[in-house]
Amino acid sequence: MEKVLILGHKNPDTDSICSSLVMERIAKIYGIDAEAVRLGNINKETEYVLNYLGIEPQRQITVAEEGQKIILVDHNEAPQSIDGREKLEVIAVIDHHRIADFSTSMPLYYIAKPYGCTSTLLYEICKKEGLEIDKTMATLMLSAIISDTLLLKSPTCTKKDIEAFEELEKIAEIDAKTYGLDMLKAGTDFSMYGAAEVINLDAKEFNEKGKKIVIAQVNTADIQDVFTRKEELSFEIEKRIVDDGLDLFIFVITDIINSNSKIIALGTDKELAEKAFGKKLDNDDAMILEGVVSRKKQVAPQIIDAI
Ligand code: MG
Ligand code: MG
Ligand code: MG
Repeated sequence: MEKVLILGHKNPDTDSICSSLVMERIAKIYGIDAEAVRLGNINKETEYVLNYLGIEPQRQITVAEEGQKIILVDHNEAPQSIDGREKLEVIAVIDHHRIADFSTSMPLYYIAKPYGCTSTLLYEICKKEGLEIDKTMATLMLSAIISDTLLLKSPTCTKKDIEAFEELEKIAEIDAKTYGLDMLKAGTDFSMYGAAEVINLDAKEFNEKGKKIVIAQVNTADIQDVFTRKEELSFEIEKRIVDDGLDLFIFVITDIINSNSKIIALGTDKELAEKAFGKKLDNDDAMILEGVVSRKKQVAPQIIDAI
């Protein structure tokens, strides 16, 4: 039987990694020869999860052979997916984002719900199909939910995410609050990375009405800590804008303790940020956004509307 590759988005986060690993297990239950792969490095937060479980990171790929069957989790937009995707066959998508830049030539399974996390969708599938969720699967899904909902605090968090979180916490036999805080904290340590890496750790590209936009995000316990690196970060952002022909780059520094963000907006279309949020950028090309933690719900749609 033909092998199916399962992949999350570029610059994979904990949801992309954990959901692809869970999806691999689900596919195998149905007799599908599936392999979870990844499109980039494992971040520190996800590394914490894999170390906890004693799991090796899955194989990294950058391209796939023409006609390769793939399952997408945690994304669907072309710029966030594997390069050359139009030459591959997408057989299923399981996602919780807006749908854009997506088309196929063949029929497919497409499961999309506006939940806070892809793993909540996978949990729901397991329940509906009567599939057994073992401790490892539960820990993977729980970690993804903690990551995407910032321990249920993000405005993207739904009732379904909370239900899944509570059920999975029991199966995983973990104190999810303590584990989750340690996991999120592990993800805030990027002192070992150069500025070029920091701006790319969790960067997503959007193509909207001819505009090429990147919105990158990092989590921190102290915004000022990250902002002290503003000079080198801005330098690398400007470089990326030139190299990739971007119209706008937004770097979101999110305080996961107090649920606020500070953004840096650069590029010829940086006034889109001012229009989107109704305030001026300061002399550092930055502004504070109170109560903003979600790129998906509180940053990207506002910027896209402003275009
Ligand atoms: Mg994601
Ligand atoms: Mg996600
Ligand atoms: Mg995220």
